[in-house]
Amino acid sequence: MTIGVLALQGDFAKHLAMLTRIGVDSREVRKPSDLDGVDALIIPGGESTTIGKLMARYGLDTAIRARAKRGMPIYGTCAGLILLAKEIEGSRQPRLGLMDIAVVRNAFGRQIESFEADILFAPTPDQPVRGVFIRAPIVSRVKEGVQVLSTFDSKIVAVQQGNLLATAFHPELTDDTRVHRYFLTLVK
Ligand code: GLN
Repeated sequence: MTIGVLALQGDFAKHLAMLTRIGVDSREVRKPSDLDGVDALIIPGGESTTIGKLMARYGLDTAIRARAKRGMPIYGTCAGLILLAKEIEGSRQPRLGLMDIAVVRNAFGRQIESFEADILFAPTPDQPVRGVFIRAPIVSRVKEGVQVLSTFDSKIVAVQQGNLLATAFHPELTDDTRVHRYFLTLVK
């Protein structure tokens, strides 16, 4: 199994390090041909407007959408969650638009740009995960077929729709491998 990590901008190196730690092969994805031989894709945190523009410039948006439609699992963290959403409230920025969710960017406001909290992640109910939030979005609406996996302060911060997983927080910035391991269970 080889997991691709979109490496255009943002904290992709942290995801690669996490995958190495788990003992899974990984590869940086920068152009459409990098997706060949990749079984799943992670879209990191960073700046969603920048990542979205670069994806469109290199034709990666079309290539990723095509693979997703054929069932390739994708996991988006933070900016990655924003890029997976069909609706980004108040923004027309480029996106993949694969998940039936609406998101609000920077939803926790300027006062608390970054914070950490223990979050219950439904697939690993035994023990909460440490949620690291950095100028994080929230999911403001979900349509049928979308499962809510985590909430914080009654805001939705983790969702899944079939082969697509997204968290507003950053497990790659912690030592806890469980969210990534859960993602790997979606890979056939
Ligand atoms: N605020 C960023 C955005 O809107 C996301 C922040 C992050 O990925 N840590 O793109």
